[in-house]
Amino acid sequence: MFNRKFIYNALPGRINFGAGSLASLAEEIDRLGCRRVLVLTTPEQKDQGDMVKDLIGDRWVASFNQATMHVPTDVVDQALVVAEANNVDCFVGIGGGSTTGLGKALALRSERPIIAIPTTYAGSEMTPIWGLTENGIKKTGRDPRVLPTSVIYDPDLTMTLPSFISGPSGVNAIAHCVEALYAPDANPITSLIAEEGIRALSSSLPVVVSTPDDKEARSDALYGAYLAGTALAAVGMSLHHKLCHTLGGSFNLPHADVHTIILPYATRYNSEAAPEAMQRICRAMGTDDAALGLYDLNRCINAKSGLKDIGFEEKDIEKAADIATQNPYANPEPVTKEGVIKLLTDACHGVRP
Ligand code: NAD
Repeated sequence: MFNRKFIYNALPGRINFGAGSLASLAEEIDRLGCRRVLVLTTPEQKDQGDMVKDLIGDRWVASFNQATMHVPTDVVDQALVVAEANNVDCFVGIGGGSTTGLGKALALRSERPIIAIPTTYAGSEMTPIWGLTENGIKKTGRDPRVLPTSVIYDPDLTMTLPSFISGPSGVNAIAHCVEALYAPDANPITSLIAEEGIRALSSSLPVVVSTPDDKEARSDALYGAYLAGTALAAVGMSLHHKLCHTLGGSFNLPHADVHTIILPYATRYNSEAAPEAMQRICRAMGTDDAALGLYDLNRCINAKSGLKDIGFEEKDIEKAADIATQNPYANPEPVTKEGVIKLLTDACHGVRP
């Protein structure tokens, strides 16, 4: 096309992808010129943290195993004390978005590099977006200092991720791709990435959930998650992410489950206003209706069907719609309170969109 025009803000970062790639960790640390590593995990993944410790030998100086969902500031303070007491010069986080989030908060405060080893499909490791929760309020922001310098994607590390986390975590990644396709700053490269991300994730997730030890499906899902994180990092998100942020933050609902339940309805909301994005989703999923394709995928991975199944009450719909429509943001279909109430009512009951 002669008059094609776009701006693509590509981000830096080194990716090492493949089964067994964790073995390269010591080399990655040395490439950064670092010598004193703090290993980060959640309490549940302490064993994987110990495995990392053994792998990197005398580069290890301490571990902090208290990474917590939504990155509470008091946890960051505790980890920073450990980092300073041990004169740490690099953070290695092995885990999901919560662990990567802790690494980012530490990088923001101490300006030391992060090596991220993701073990879920959340995609945070590819983005310069940080989040911090203080007194129950989650703040987020963008800062290039929090972008991991190096990411090791080793599908072997995801084999232990239980099906009930794998499925929603993967659909959370698909949501990044869906909104990247109709983002106001989308470009041909991010759209390629997003479409391929949907293809890789939607074809692998049903297998990952039904046969968790299928290595090929695990590898495809992690590849899709990498692409989804890349898309999320490059362009702005719209109604879907805004709604999920509201429901997670103000109603304390589980992050990945909320994304999974809302996605078919947010897609339906935008389906007439974003035909090209819908066409790409359909092509990637082999379906002729994007919203229904996503709804059926949720059934295939045994996802919770309605918001009411994860603790959201119908009486809160109006309040949620108020919060989600308070500040204007870009979305293909204009965002109205009535429209959001209908979306949330359908999502509450899990009806076919
Ligand atoms: P998570 O990191 O909270 O992990 C969920 C649970 O699964 C934890 O107990 C964890 O220890 C466990 N787990 C992770 N990998 C495992 C494995 N391989 N085997 C066994 N157990 C495993 O969940 P998540 O969905 O990865 O991340 C959610 C968080 O990430 C949210 O706070 C969200 O806001 C954030 N997030 C941030 C960005 C960003 O760009 N900043 C992007 C996506 C998500």
